[in-house]
Amino acid sequence: MRLLLLFWLPCAAVAAPLDDIAAAYVHLTLEAGVREPGYVDAYYGPRDWQAAAAANPRSPGQLRIDAAALRARLLGLRDLAGESLRRRDFLAAQLRAAETRLAMRDGVKFAFDAEAEGLFATRPPTQPLADFDPLLAEIDRLVPGDGPLWQRVDAFKDKVIVPPDRLAAVMQAAIAECRRRTLVHIPLPAEERFALSFVTAKPWSGYNWYEGGASSRIEVNTDLPVRIDRAVDLGCHEGYPGHHVLNLLLERELAQGRGWIEFTVYPLYSPQSLLAEGSANYGIDLAFPGDEQRDFETRVLYPLAGLDPALAPAQAKLNRAMRALSGARLTIAREWLDGRIDRATALALTQKYLLVSPARAEQSLKFTETYRAYVINYGLGRDMVQARVERAGADPALRWAVMRALLSEPTLPADLLK
Ligand SMILES: [Zn+2]
Repeated sequence: MRLLLLFWLPCAAVAAPLDDIAAAYVHLTLEAGVREPGYVDAYYGPRDWQAAAAANPRSPGQLRIDAAALRARLLGLRDLAGESLRRRDFLAAQLRAAETRLAMRDGVKFAFDAEAEGLFATRPPTQPLADFDPLLAEIDRLVPGDGPLWQRVDAFKDKVIVPPDRLAAVMQAAIAECRRRTLVHIPLPAEERFALSFVTAKPWSGYNWYEGGASSRIEVNTDLPVRIDRAVDLGCHEGYPGHHVLNLLLERELAQGRGWIEFTVYPLYSPQSLLAEGSANYGIDLAFPGDEQRDFETRVLYPLAGLDPALAPAQAKLNRAMRALSGARLTIAREWLDGRIDRATALALTQKYLLVSPARAEQSLKFTETYRAYVINYGLGRDMVQARVERAGADPALRWAVMRALLSEPTLPADLLK
């Protein structure tokens, strides 16, 4: 008994201040969410905390001061190790992001890189657009013909638009396959579920709304025609092993398993989003290594969509080549948001380097306008998660084990570099 007591006391002494600060962080995040709609991406903690925040939110200025004070308290905690240290560091990074976002709400203007570092604990690398020119030349050879390259690529990809009346069946089949492949490596609770719906007039192409209790709503934007490769992308990214799985693991392992209340809330503008978007994007490669996405689409999705499966190999080849262009989006966003180019130039460069129609370039810029430095989380986040997971070696089981650990722990961008 005595030994047990001696062991128990120091743990409790460490956990109590962390628990207090974590609860204060949740209240602060909920109130910041009242001040900025969309800031809270998911919440499944005590209902009355949400009502209290809505009834009496602090001002953004006061919230900013209180976030800084909470962070100072955290950094003043001594003798932390192991899980407690990781928990402290995670909370400190989330609070730094809250301070940054609240400063922005208060009118403070950050340069793109400083905003990215403040919100997502990551300094994005600089890659000049000229670096992507050899890739454009390579893609030019894949899609021969006259007219601007973006036009040829756009027309080529439009050959595999899923007819609207087949879209739900194609999406459901893709999601089911992403789920099946994830379940081999990550056990999921029996009650987990999602509801799929189609929406319009949104600045994004897909969104997962996590509702707690292992349940999500996945929305797919149909403002623009949906091409067949988006089905597996969306199924993995929004669902399995992407956002739906990340959220349910955080809920089960950390919020319920450890009693860490901070994991009942997910502020969109925080380092959590780099892991969320990065793991959701890399999850496509993990679930469909090599040519497996192409093979699955050829065998199942093309027939379901009423499309000719003979189109699949060339489409897959083009998509693979275009993937390396995703870094151009970050460079264009930085140039535009930092005021070095105007909107019209950003639009033209988006068409040129992302090889999209004016309508799709417009959708991309609307996203950047709304979410700003958040755009780093997709390409850079994917590269960082990929590098971390693939350090485990080529064995798929080992890669999935690392992925599962990343999704089940308080993972920060810095942890991906270890
Ligand atoms: Zn996402």
